[in-house]
Amino acid sequence: MRKECSFIGLFALLPLIIGLLGCGSDSKSEVNSAGSVPGYEVYDSRGVMTHSSHGRRLSRSPSPNNHRGTSFAGNPQSQYPAASRGSAASSPRSTPPVRTVSSRSPVPRKSPGSLLSEVRVRKDYISPRARGRRNSRSMRPRYITIHSTQNWSRGADAWRHSLALKRSKLGRLSWHYTTDENVAVQHLPTNITGNHADFDGPGNRYSIGIEMCEHPGNSRTKTVERTAKLAAYLMHKHDIPLSRVVPHYHWPRHGMRPANKNCPHFLLDKGRPGSKWRGFQAQVKRYHDDITKGGSRYVSR
Ligand SMILES: [Zn+2]
Repeated sequence: MRKECSFIGLFALLPLIIGLLGCGSDSKSEVNSAGSVPGYEVYDSRGVMTHSSHGRRLSRSPSPNNHRGTSFAGNPQSQYPAASRGSAASSPRSTPPVRTVSSRSPVPRKSPGSLLSEVRVRKDYISPRARGRRNSRSMRPRYITIHSTQNWSRGADAWRHSLALKRSKLGRLSWHYTTDENVAVQHLPTNITGNHADFDGPGNRYSIGIEMCEHPGNSRTKTVERTAKLAAYLMHKHDIPLSRVVPHYHWPRHGMRPANKNCPHFLLDKGRPGSKWRGFQAQVKRYHDDITKGGSRYVSR
C-alpha cells in the first residue's frame, strides 16, 4: 500500500518533511499558563527583531505602537493631502469649499467577500482521523504565520500537499492553508490548531498557518500576492492586527538550532525579517485597507 506512491509520493515530499521536521510536535516543551501568550516582535529597519512585549498578556486591541519601526505605519488618508485651495479654514470668505475625495467618508473599495473570491480558497479538509489532525485543539486565532514549503519537487502544488496531508504522509504536521499561483487550498478549519510552527508553543496554539508553494514553474509573485490577500482577509475576519502577521521565523523552536527558522526564506533577508518582509507586510496592508478603509487607489483617485 505504501508503495503505491503517487506522482510526488514520499520521495517527492522528502524535502518538505526534512524542512518541516523542525516544526513537528513530538518533542515536548512547556505549555504557557492559560490565557498568556508571548509577545509579538517588531523588526527595526536593520531587520533586528525587538522583543517589545514578551511575557505580557496581550490585549485584543494592541496599541498603535505595535507598528513602530515599520515603514508602512500610518493612515493611508494622510498620503492624500487636503486641497490647498477652497478649504473653509484657509479662506473663510471664499466661495463654498471644493469637495475633494479626501473629504468624503471613506468607503471600502472592495468587499471582504470579493477579496476572498480573488484568493480562490478551496476547502479540502484533513480528516479528523488523519495523523495531522488527531491532536488538534480548539483555537481562537490571534496570529497568522507565513511559511514556505521548501519543497522544490515537480508538481508539489497546493493540491498535492493537501493530498499528502489527507493521507497522513507528513506525520503529525498540519497547517491551515497552502497557496500557489492558482489557488489556496484549506486543510483545517481556522478554529482548530495546526502543527506547523513551534511544537507546543504559541505559534501552533494561536496561529493560522499558511504555506506557500515553491515547486518548479510556480509563479512566486502570484503566490505571494495570493498569500497577502488571504492574510488580509483573515486579519479582517478574525480581528488580527498587521503586527501579528508573522513569519515562521518569529516563533522560536525550543531545543532546535537555530531556534528561529529561516522561513519563509524568500521573504527574509539573510534569514531574518528585513526589507523583504516589510514589503510583504505593506502588500498585506494594502489589501486590508481595500476592504476596511477605502484603499490606496480610492483615496488617490
Ligand atoms: Zn515554516
